[in-house]
Amino acid sequence: MPPRLRLTGITKRYAATLANSDVNLTIGPGEIHALLGENGAGKSTLVKIIYGFVRPDSGEIAWEGEPVQIPDPNAARKLGVGMVFQHFSLFESLTVAENIALGLGATETIAELTKRIEEISRRYGLAVTPTRHVHHLSVGERQRVEIVRCLLQSPRLLIMDEPTSVLTPQEAEGLFDVLRRLSSEGCSVLYISHKLEEIKALCERATVLRGGRVVGHCDPRISSEQQMAEMMIGGALPVAHRTSALHEGAPCLQIERLSLPADEPFGTNLRDISLTLRDGEILGVAGVAGNGQKEILAVLSGERLSPDAGSVRVCGTAAGHLGPTARRRLGLAFIPEERIGRGAVGEFSLTENGLLTAYGSGFVRGGLIRFGAIAQYARDIIKRFVVKAAGIEARGSSLSGGNMQKFIVGREMGTNPRVLLAAHPTWGVDIGAAIAIRQALMDLAAAGSGVLVVSEDLAELFEISDKIAVLFHGRLSVPKPTNETSIEEVGLLMGGGTEAGASPVVAHAA
Ligand code: ADP
Repeated sequence: MPPRLRLTGITKRYAATLANSDVNLTIGPGEIHALLGENGAGKSTLVKIIYGFVRPDSGEIAWEGEPVQIPDPNAARKLGVGMVFQHFSLFESLTVAENIALGLGATETIAELTKRIEEISRRYGLAVTPTRHVHHLSVGERQRVEIVRCLLQSPRLLIMDEPTSVLTPQEAEGLFDVLRRLSSEGCSVLYISHKLEEIKALCERATVLRGGRVVGHCDPRISSEQQMAEMMIGGALPVAHRTSALHEGAPCLQIERLSLPADEPFGTNLRDISLTLRDGEILGVAGVAGNGQKEILAVLSGERLSPDAGSVRVCGTAAGHLGPTARRRLGLAFIPEERIGRGAVGEFSLTENGLLTAYGSGFVRGGLIRFGAIAQYARDIIKRFVVKAAGIEARGSSLSGGNMQKFIVGREMGTNPRVLLAAHPTWGVDIGAAIAIRQALMDLAAAGSGVLVVSEDLAELFEISDKIAVLFHGRLSVPKPTNETSIEEVGLLMGGGTEAGASPVVAHAA
């Protein structure tokens, strides 16, 4: 049987960057193949070529033994290629079903499509509501829409880019079962993930890219995570370790018995939330996207005010009535979920983006911007976090997601905040950068700041947090010391279970 897909000598250049250089890749029928590499290694470019978004400068593509051209995504879909994107291509003002209809170029009515969506979402345990408008959806929910959209096309090669970052471990297992079933039915899968334990559990072959070139292959069932990571970075893996943490510091961020109705139709009501973050502590908030993460972050950052000023305290001061700028003055810094749009401005240079939130730290004097100082600040961030960018004048939008994330993390930490709110700090970031970001969060806590991390990556939360709490349907569980709980227990709470052994429920916003 010919391979499902064979790429030979694929090369793609962007100005000075060789994004793909003479890449060969073969995927057999039913094979689950991992594509590994750091941010910027060329993975997205390669899958965009397979999906017809990008034309290679040279090289050949064969589909089931026949040479083909893939001039556009329509041609890819006709061949049987489906793709779940890391950056979602959904229209904000349309419903889930309308978006899927557009993506499929479907001829069926919305009602018929809605039924099919419900069927797929039930069958695969992927909670999506076809009538919801996309602008209400969290990142996690958007990704589920993308997955459902893909599965509706009965693909013969499914490309998945970080599909599990928004699932509970149990749901991720469910998705793996789906992928294994698809594979046993002959559907091939090209799987991109920075989570190497997933790659080991799921994939039977891996191709490793570095600097646009194929630098190796392996069988992930045999190779260790460390071996794969070292192939990706071409050297030894840095190890993150916690320096001594300050225990039982003073409270630096508190919520007291806060209930707050959602401020949008499909938002999550926050129900009787209490939490205390102390100096020197990392508190991890786990949960599947759409269970109140957006709402709790808005209430803490000051983007949403509370009815009672005292229900939120920042560094001891009642702050429920204060907006984001006033809370920053109290010592709070914030790494938001969306990089471009809320974390940074795509059209601004890195220097200007640095100034966006750090301006209160001595970069403006007598109403004048100290350009030299802010330029140095941007340079320092680029150096410390190894941000790949053309320089401090590079626009935000020219950086890859992972590199922009590193810049934002650096900017927020650079002012030495007493409290840091970090939403999904390593989402879509490669393994080396993720280690650097986690290390920076731990160093910040070790230096005495309180850090609240909202993440769907349980391995990450277990690695860095002193305590872990779980959000489900707008309620926050009582934080437990990390060493007194387990991934299984937290996973069950994420699915709505109340104790070990309770049956998990598919989690989604009410
Ligand atoms: P990965 O998906 O592994 O993170 P990419 O394929 O996105 O890597 O990027 C590979 C390289 O090509 C990077 O250096 C990136 O900056 C560059 N690149 C990708 N797309 C473009 C583009 N449209 N214009 C200019 N450079 C690009």
